Amino acid sequence: MSTAYDWISRALKTIHKADWHRSVQPLVGLPGPVVHLGDRALVNFASNDYLGLAGDPRLAAAAIAAIRAEGTGSTGSRLLSGHRPRHRDLEQAIATLKGTDDAIVFSSGYLANLGTISALVGHRDLVLSDQYNHSSLITGARASGATLESYAHGDVADLRRQLETLRSRHRRCLILTDTVFSMDGDLCPLPEILDLADAFDCMVLVDEAHGTGVLGATGAGGVEALGCRGRSLVQMGTLSKALGSLGGYVAGDAALIDFLRNRAPSWIYTTGLTPADTAAAIAALHIVQTEPERRDRLWHNVHTLRSQVDDLLAIAPPHSPLRRRLPSDSPILCIELPDATTAVALRDRLQQAGIFLAVVRPPTVPTSRLRMTVMATHTDGHIAQLVQGLREL
Ligand SMILES: *Cc1c(COP(=O)(O)O)cnc(C)c1O
Repeated sequence: MSTAYDWISRALKTIHKADWHRSVQPLVGLPGPVVHLGDRALVNFASNDYLGLAGDPRLAAAAIAAIRAEGTGSTGSRLLSGHRPRHRDLEQAIATLKGTDDAIVFSSGYLANLGTISALVGHRDLVLSDQYNHSSLITGARASGATLESYAHGDVADLRRQLETLRSRHRRCLILTDTVFSMDGDLCPLPEILDLADAFDCMVLVDEAHGTGVLGATGAGGVEALGCRGRSLVQMGTLSKALGSLGGYVAGDAALIDFLRNRAPSWIYTTGLTPADTAAAIAALHIVQTEPERRDRLWHNVHTLRSQVDDLLAIAPPHSPLRRRLPSDSPILCIELPDATTAVALRDRLQQAGIFLAVVRPPTVPTSRLRMTVMATHTDGHIAQLVQGLREL
């Protein structure tokens, strides 16, 4: 007998056929540059824990102390019973790092984008979004009801053309871009985007998920690295990547943050960040500001891996599945592959060689690729092992 749910197994079959099927792999033990999959130790090039803080004992101690003092849950929305002084401490620490008036923390980066975009624009407005933006930006734009158009990746001329045609037909306009593109590793042309925003009376929201703690002289992120500190814009980011915790934030002008506390549904109607996550993030921000050597080590590792991969690709035979390295200015390094089937096969071979990394396939990205992320806590030996694994492919 057929049921109303049969289409689900049919859809899954189609996903399998295209080699697009994804599943989870259970890692055991602490996060770090080496992870354990079952009883096998693998060098980890798949983590967003760029500074190696998710397993840092100081974050764990801060989280445990917060649980002892305030329990495991924050028990309600921040506007009802869920607000704690440490939430404010965290928001002020973020604002200090970012050099903004204020900040607001959400339960995740995804929710920060969803709530912020739908608070800033509505059905009379226009959203222009880089073609490679993160899913949470696109979902936020769709949920807002605004007219959503995308512009070619990093293409300021295309953005300008769209503004010339579309801007005057809408009330407000919001430009959305990742600062570091999460599946490519390159940066957005932020100064040019902000100039266009000024010329066409637009707001700009940047997603600093992969920039915070990683880029810029003080670790403030892509906005700092691209020389745009102090310019008007909305900066969102996450506490879950270089900061080793969980949660999202928006930093900006005092009026913007106060407006979001009143109008962002994913902040108003959800439970406040847990005491443990909040305390861990505060401890991480302190480390970002007081231990710049972690960032130095991260960038040393990025430059080492990037140049060794380039040397390897320069001598790769013509039939090699490793096609080219995608342009990158971040700890995210991608090598393009011919197709999804090759991607899965290469990931499995690298895993046999003791290396854990991600393959990213359509529909997430247009072309299949090996995606490697570098950590401050990788040793030269870890990087050499990865490069040897790639050489054998
Ligand atoms: C991870 C990520 C997010 C979502 O952040 P979470 O805190 O994990 O929900 C948003 N934007 C980008 C670019 C990301 O990479």
